Amino acid sequence: MLRIAIDGPGGAGKSSLAKEVAKRLEIIYVDTGALYRTVGYYMLNHGIDPTDAPAVAGQLGNFTLELTYVNGEQVILLDGANVKDAIRTPEMSMAASHVSAIKEVREFLLNTQRDIAKRNSVIMDGRDIGTNVLPDCKHKFYITASLEERTERRYKELISRGQNVDKEQLK
Ligand code: C5P
Repeated sequence: MLRIAIDGPGGAGKSSLAKEVAKRLEIIYVDTGALYRTVGYYMLNHGIDPTDAPAVAGQLGNFTLELTYVNGEQVILLDGANVKDAIRTPEMSMAASHVSAIKEVREFLLNTQRDIAKRNSVIMDGRDIGTNVLPDCKHKFYITASLEERTERRYKELISRGQNVDKEQLK
C-alpha cells in the first residue's frame, strides 16, 4: 500500500496537488478537512456553539459519518445525506476550525482517517497527517505559501462557487 501525507495551512494548494497526484498514481485522495467541516456543519445545524467543547463532545455519538468514494471522488455522508456543497462556505470553515480545536473531535475523526488508509492506497491532506494520523508513513510533504497567495487562492475558489466573500475578512 502506498501512503502519502500532505500537511500545511489552508489555501496553500494541498488539495489541488493531492487530487492531481491521486489521479496520476490511481490512488484515493482523502480530504480530511471535509471531515472537520462536516462535524462543524452538524453542530451549527443543531444549534450547538462550535466553540463549546463539552456540548460538541456530547454530540459526537449522535450522528453517523461515512467516508465513501463515487467515481474516485470523496463523498461524505452525514446520517446518510451527502453534504458536499453545504460544507464549503466560509461559515463552515470557521465552524470546522473551532471544532478541530476540541480534543474529543480529533480523537473521533482519527479512526475514520486511519481506517481508510488501512484499506486503501491513499494521499491524505490536512494539518496533522504526517505527525498524528499516519506517523509511520514514508512519504510526507509540507506545503505552504504566503498569506497573500493563500487568501487569493481561497478567494477565487469561493467566488467560483458563486459565494460572496470579503477578501479582507477571508484573510
Ligand atoms: O482544509 P480545510 O479548509 O477544509 O479544513 C477545515 C478546517 O479543519 C481547518 O481550518 C482546520 O482547522 C481543520 N483541520 C484540522 N486537521 C486536519 C484537516 C483540517 O484540524 N487534518
